[in-house]
Amino acid sequence: MQFEKIVILTGAGLSAESGLGTFRGTDGLWDQYDIEEVATPECFARSPVKVHDFYNMRRGWLKQAKPNAAHFALAKLEHDHTGAVLTVTQNIDGLHEAAGCSHLIHMHGELASALCARCGTSLPWHEDLSLTTACPVCHKAGFLRPDVVWFGEMPHEMERIMEALSRCDLFVAVGTSGMVYPAAGFVAEAKHAGAHTVELNLDPSDGASLFDEAHYGPATEVVPAYVDKLLG
Ligand SMILES: [Zn+2]
Repeated sequence: MQFEKIVILTGAGLSAESGLGTFRGTDGLWDQYDIEEVATPECFARSPVKVHDFYNMRRGWLKQAKPNAAHFALAKLEHDHTGAVLTVTQNIDGLHEAAGCSHLIHMHGELASALCARCGTSLPWHEDLSLTTACPVCHKAGFLRPDVVWFGEMPHEMERIMEALSRCDLFVAVGTSGMVYPAAGFVAEAKHAGAHTVELNLDPSDGASLFDEAHYGPATEVVPAYVDKLLG
């Protein structure tokens, strides 16, 4: 393989074939919610029950969701590549881990995690959250929230991500819309570092012209094919 240090960025399109839906898809369930009304700290302060319901529903879906061929291909790349592979995901599902990926950053947090706004503890969480759920650490109710990054909040581990981008020689964006910053700016960072840049997506994203190479189609087809080519 010609590349040593690989950074993979993944988005909703990767998990679309795992039964979770995407925000920009045509799944009727999303029509019940305006994402701007459930994904900001202000919404949570104003309508905590609505926000908990939305994330409880999505956390519930995770129990049926399974990683697809694209998740498994990326985990295979991590295991079989002799150099470094860092996967940075915007997805809050746990499907990368379920496929066996371990060198992973959840930049937008995780559905299967709760954050206590009182004591700052972040802990694994698989059940519903409500206003009466007590924090297992500080024992106060009413402070636990989904451990996800909302609009206006800082994504996780940005320093580590930018460091990896500044050293990578291959950057691959998988299933991302190219519309959500700061992730939409990663391709420019990677190019600045001299990396080869690749887009794998259902259709050309908003940032498609920034990539050196692109393959379009369902993630379960284009990702395994690309990984096989890389691993040669
Ligand atoms: Zn607490």
